[in-house]
Amino acid sequence: MEKSYLESNPNQEGFFGKYGGSFIPPQLEGAFKEINEAYDKLSKSFDFLNELKNIRKHYQGRPTPISYAKNLSEYCGGGQIYLKREDLNHTGAHKLNHCMAEALLAKYLGKKKIMAETGAGQHGVALATAAAYFGLECEIHMGEVDIQKEYPNVVRMKILGAKVVPATHGLKTLKEAVDSCFEAYISQSDTALYAIGSVVGPHPFPKMVRDFQSIVGYEAKEQFFEMTHKLPDNCIACVGGGSNAMGLFSAFIDDPVKLHAVEPLGVGTKLGEHAATLTFGEEGIMHGFNSIMLKDENGEPAPVYSVGSGIDYPSVGPEHAHLSQIGRTIVGTCDDEEAIDAFYKLSQLEGIIPALESAHAVAYAMKYAKEHPKESILVNLSGRGDKDIDFVVEKYPIPQKEQ
Ligand SMILES: *Cc1c(COP(=O)(O)O)cnc(C)c1O
Repeated sequence: MEKSYLESNPNQEGFFGKYGGSFIPPQLEGAFKEINEAYDKLSKSFDFLNELKNIRKHYQGRPTPISYAKNLSEYCGGGQIYLKREDLNHTGAHKLNHCMAEALLAKYLGKKKIMAETGAGQHGVALATAAAYFGLECEIHMGEVDIQKEYPNVVRMKILGAKVVPATHGLKTLKEAVDSCFEAYISQSDTALYAIGSVVGPHPFPKMVRDFQSIVGYEAKEQFFEMTHKLPDNCIACVGGGSNAMGLFSAFIDDPVKLHAVEPLGVGTKLGEHAATLTFGEEGIMHGFNSIMLKDENGEPAPVYSVGSGIDYPSVGPEHAHLSQIGRTIVGTCDDEEAIDAFYKLSQLEGIIPALESAHAVAYAMKYAKEHPKESILVNLSGRGDKDIDFVVEKYPIPQKEQ
């Protein structure tokens, strides 16, 4: 029998076409090999999968529902928009799907600690939650600039019992946090697990995080079929590193369903004004894997910007680079202004305040629905917007609802 797409991608070395792989310092090769071999076994282990299933159900609150956005669909005057409600997952976003599984992996490996870097703090909070649940230590590296900017998430991590380590060199943001965490991991890899926050990083993380997120797509496929007796015509998700998008897409990849990856266009098309990596980037290696990235004039990761702080990443998961190159996904964009409009529209028409990241997918779906009135659209609503409300209302006044 012919192998499915998911069975044959990535290959043994962790490549999706020419993207992916593992480009790490020699001191870490042993640690990543250990993770790879363990995951290979555990992904087929009944005990591991069954424990994860129970955690999903009894702790995370899965399955999350699909909601038909009737008012929003009518407002757009066209296609029918459905929302996969990852905002209702414990901690309010999809990230816990892979963090719980990574922490479970740490437990099976007999590790005492999980560690990672975080940019806006969302991955740090989800990982600190998982660490608390499993009784593991948690060490989060974060740029000093980000610590000041995202202070509520720093407090959350500390309440949850995590140790927050400031990265104090260079620009003191995400890139420096990655360096700092890698360095700390080198001396601790026998007792700690590095838990990457998206479908990025060296093999096996892009595959492993995709598999851990695929619960979103498998649930959604069944739920959508139950509601409509069909497959959706389109799946839409925002892409930073790309984990929520791969989670939704993976269940539909061998089906006749259009898959749209939406990147943040920020405030313009010039380098530094956006984080639309697949749209404007070129091939390159950063953070241990080969993919498409945004480079500055020296070939280093370029500064990026989006109002959605969880999607401003200068590279993208290697599988997204591959899927867009072979034409399996359609890459779209959404700028800050469209995302803010969608943030308020979804709030006022459906009673759902979305995360600014997720609002990018909603905005793209609204445009698409107008132009394709006969099609159904399944959007991954990756998170809730509570974390964003203070910032949004200060910068973008609340619009009067059209009555
Ligand atoms: C972190 C985050 C994202 C972006 O991460 P991906 O790996 O691209 O999915 C999207 N939405 C929310 C709510 C997030 O917290």
